[in-house]
Amino acid sequence: MQYKGVLKKMNTENLDTVQYYLDMQTDFINVNQLLHKTIAIKFETYECLSCGLEKEIYRQGFCKSCFFETPNAGDWIMRPELSKAHLGEADRDLEYEKKVQLQPHIVYLANSSNVKVGVTRKTQVPTRWIDQGAHEAIEIVEVPNRYLAGITEVALKEHVADKTNWRKMLKNDIEDEDLTKWQERLRAFIPEEVQEYFIENNKETTINFPVDKYPEKPKSLNILKEGSYSGKLVGVKGQYFIFEDNTVFNVRANEGLVVSITVLD
Ligand SMILES: [Zn+2]
Repeated sequence: MQYKGVLKKMNTENLDTVQYYLDMQTDFINVNQLLHKTIAIKFETYECLSCGLEKEIYRQGFCKSCFFETPNAGDWIMRPELSKAHLGEADRDLEYEKKVQLQPHIVYLANSSNVKVGVTRKTQVPTRWIDQGAHEAIEIVEVPNRYLAGITEVALKEHVADKTNWRKMLKNDIEDEDLTKWQERLRAFIPEEVQEYFIENNKETTINFPVDKYPEKPKSLNILKEGSYSGKLVGVKGQYFIFEDNTVFNVRANEGLVVSITVLD
């Protein structure tokens, strides 16, 4: 069986075990069904996720010119505190920015390798947590726009991490934390104007990933450099394929690459 298409981050469903779906042009693959199978991945070409042209990918699945021009790669994406749509000010395209920024956002704590703070649109819960490989997470505040979420994250970063250690996450080198206690402890550091949006009496969400064997020493596959790779798939966590030989492949970091995926047995 062979599939070919441009890589985009996997879609997910938080069931008893997370279900992963890879949308390839020709088919929609339920990646869980590829577990225990040997699969080959081959780099074919590039396809920018914005303009669709066969141009080298610069960042986030975009070619260089799209990365610096398309409204969905503005600085406020990675740094929500720079959001300005609530002031009626445009970054690249005010209509687009209003649509994305002026909707309910969540500031959360997620534990993937350590407890970290993050921001997401409410519609992206729990997708965002699954993408990060968090085995537990909790919502701290729900605010009406991206800016308020951003300034909360900036304030809390002084007191809790905002990054995941992907090696620890993949090795499952993790500890369970009581995130309700963390939420209470961080409460005092939430900015004054956001205090009214604090979520009371909240519970953790737990996430189970389809992994049979965690890698002891994860090695990241660089498909551009290698050209192709084949191995036995033993798990999926976050946006990573995990193979039996310790190789891991970050699907999200390879967005915009056209690949063929062949299921060998
Ligand atoms: Zn482009």
